[in-house]
Amino acid sequence: MKRASSGLFQAAVALLLAGVLATPAQAAKLRVVTTTEDLAALAREVGGDRIDVTSIARGYQDPHFVEPKPSFILLLNRADLLIVVGRDLEIGWLPPLIQQSRNAKIQVGADGYLDASQAAKILEIPTGQITRALGDVHPLGNPHYWLDPENGRRIAQEIQKKLAAMQPADAGYFAGRETGFEQRLTEAEKRWDSAMAPYRGAKVVTYHASWPNFAEHFGLDVVGYVEPRPGIPPSPSHTLDLIAQMKRLGVKLMFVEPYFDLKTPNSIAGATGAQVLVMAPSVGGAKDVTDYFKLFDYDVNLFVNAARQAGVK
Ligand SMILES: [Zn+2]
Repeated sequence: MKRASSGLFQAAVALLLAGVLATPAQAAKLRVVTTTEDLAALAREVGGDRIDVTSIARGYQDPHFVEPKPSFILLLNRADLLIVVGRDLEIGWLPPLIQQSRNAKIQVGADGYLDASQAAKILEIPTGQITRALGDVHPLGNPHYWLDPENGRRIAQEIQKKLAAMQPADAGYFAGRETGFEQRLTEAEKRWDSAMAPYRGAKVVTYHASWPNFAEHFGLDVVGYVEPRPGIPPSPSHTLDLIAQMKRLGVKLMFVEPYFDLKTPNSIAGATGAQVLVMAPSVGGAKDVTDYFKLFDYDVNLFVNAARQAGVK
């Protein structure tokens, strides 16, 4: 009797294993790696359960400066598709990881490499000579373009085209999900736009130049930065100039990304009476910001509450 039941058990295990190994959806899942959580969130919207998505950077980290880890190389080694922000955002850390992955599929220019900035609206493209010598980390235009929902739409469309090309059997599925995403985004935009409408033209200062696309979409006026140039830490003389300018213009709100020290922003706030808002520049940039919709929900809500309180018109 004992023998028989043990035999049955083993047969059941064998059947289960065979079932797991034979599940076609499991085998067909595309392995997608993104550099940021924003791109991962958008890839999930389009790819649904037909892809596996992992982001290298976390949304509370400065995407310009990510500390490379051996696990990232392993991740890239196994990837079918790598999606990057581009515009040199990842120039300081990604190229050696791609090279060391020894994965021909995801090298720059290969079919498994997608630069999401190709289809996006890019602001602040320098007209003169590129000034990398001065340490500016935005030499190819502003790389924080995902903070305009319209660019979220464009990125999703690019991801859809790429996924369909790589996995034609699921093209209809990806197209359906992309359409659904755009419909939900259009609905959400109405909500965000009407919440922000009373504050069109409001003057703000931001620590880093992460917000030009956000500001353009919602009609905010970014009049200065805590950093003298993108990527250059605040200096005493620049801070004094900024304080004078904020007093002159009556700036009441200052956006700070979660990965910057609050010492300088707090001293500027003390001198001007402006309020410091630690905004989420990315999905994962605050605890509740778990997808692309919650990113704008969070930032719009934070801004509107602070603006109302500060009497911003
Ligand atoms: Zn930047």
